[in-house]
Amino acid sequence: MQRSDRDGSDTPAELVFRGGTVLSLDAADTRGTAVAVRHGRIVLVGGDDEVLPLIGRRTRVIELNGRAVIPGINDSHLHAAWLGAMWPNTVFGDIAGGAPAFEGDPHDAAEAAPLLATAAEIRAAILRAGELAASLGITSYTEPGLGPGEDAGATGCFGQAVLDEYVALEAERALTARVNVLMLYGVLDGPSELHSFTSRLRATERETERPAWLRVAGVKIFADGIPPMLQAWTHRRYPDGSSGGLLVAGLDGDEREANLRQMILAAHRAGFQVGVHATGDRTIEVVADAVAEAMAETATELRHYVIHGDLVTRESLDAMARLGMGINVQAGIAVLTSGWVAGVLGEEVAAAAWPLAEALAAGVSLSLSSDAPVLAPDWREGVAAADVWMGPAAAGAEEQRMLDLLRAYTVTPARQDGADAWKGTLEPKKVADLAVLAVNPLSVTPAELPGVAIDMTVVDGDVVFERAVALVG
Ligand SMILES: [Zn+2]
Repeated sequence: MQRSDRDGSDTPAELVFRGGTVLSLDAADTRGTAVAVRHGRIVLVGGDDEVLPLIGRRTRVIELNGRAVIPGINDSHLHAAWLGAMWPNTVFGDIAGGAPAFEGDPHDAAEAAPLLATAAEIRAAILRAGELAASLGITSYTEPGLGPGEDAGATGCFGQAVLDEYVALEAERALTARVNVLMLYGVLDGPSELHSFTSRLRATERETERPAWLRVAGVKIFADGIPPMLQAWTHRRYPDGSSGGLLVAGLDGDEREANLRQMILAAHRAGFQVGVHATGDRTIEVVADAVAEAMAETATELRHYVIHGDLVTRESLDAMARLGMGINVQAGIAVLTSGWVAGVLGEEVAAAAWPLAEALAAGVSLSLSSDAPVLAPDWREGVAAADVWMGPAAAGAEEQRMLDLLRAYTVTPARQDGADAWKGTLEPKKVADLAVLAVNPLSVTPAELPGVAIDMTVVDGDVVFERAVALVG
């Protein structure tokens, strides 16, 4: 702890939490019983005695009484405007109830009125999702696909107008979570065309006033569909003899592949991060290869990543690790749909799909996310689902399992955001984005985690959520 910095060690903290467990989730796994916040930043994580000198007359002191503080949750793939329009419905419906509350993909609803038709409705949906996020300890999220490709979309949840509303809300300082946006130049879950991709890329205005709050990070590309629809592009065969293919437009398979490679190269050259919706093993091979080609040309590390990654192979994971690529997975989708994958590609392929432990072992940045409103935006359920999918942790490795899964919702997505230097862990000088949990997550099993209440959410040092009657400090 620097006691003599210009900021002045005698300047009191605004917020102090003490008497609990503070998990910084930094590389050294620093833990403390207290944490102090000043000017929106973490001042220190340490013992209760260490924060005493930072407590002044105006410092709000929160007695944790054994509760825990963790870094704020970063749901790195969350369609907030769509979520705000749908909630409390989700695509998969109540997991316990089983029956989907809303059938399938948003494009099936072509005849129905759009979910979001006006700027006021978009605004209300973003704010509603923001409130929900704050109540779940979420302090950052990525809107994975907003832009001109969906301006004529049936739902109204993914067009440029949604991004415009984010810009307006941020100008009013009305956002309660930090937002990263991937631009969408093609159709959501549908085709994209190389020429319009590159011209829209050139026309994109990426500047935002405060990128720490709202940042146009890069571009989303839908490379292929999903295995249960026989759309994932794979080396294997579906029951009808097909092997899927790319969604990217082209006269034939070769041209589709060439166009996908061109899109990735063009985005990389323009300094855009690329998040590729890719599920098939062949698709992921091409994506990793295109990233390798782009990085051989310009070695800038833009943290390109694969979204979903269902059938990723060990070889691709190794290649992705070498390239500094990430993988963004929704464990709940693995649990819910592996039976469908087994139905079209066999039990063995389904059991080897979404290889979370292998991704970690290979050194690929593993981010877990909800894809809400496909699933509910509850990271506690995501942690529980990831643990189910990975199978029981080895005896003695349970705590490491929980730490790995918590990091996949905090540290690793901060890396995905290119923001690991200033958010994602509780370390001095990093932003004070944090969540207070009713119990120490290391004292419960992943299956028990969904029952652990979120008591408080702090973003940039400001309390954005406080559970009623929970805090008496
Ligand atoms: Zn999605």
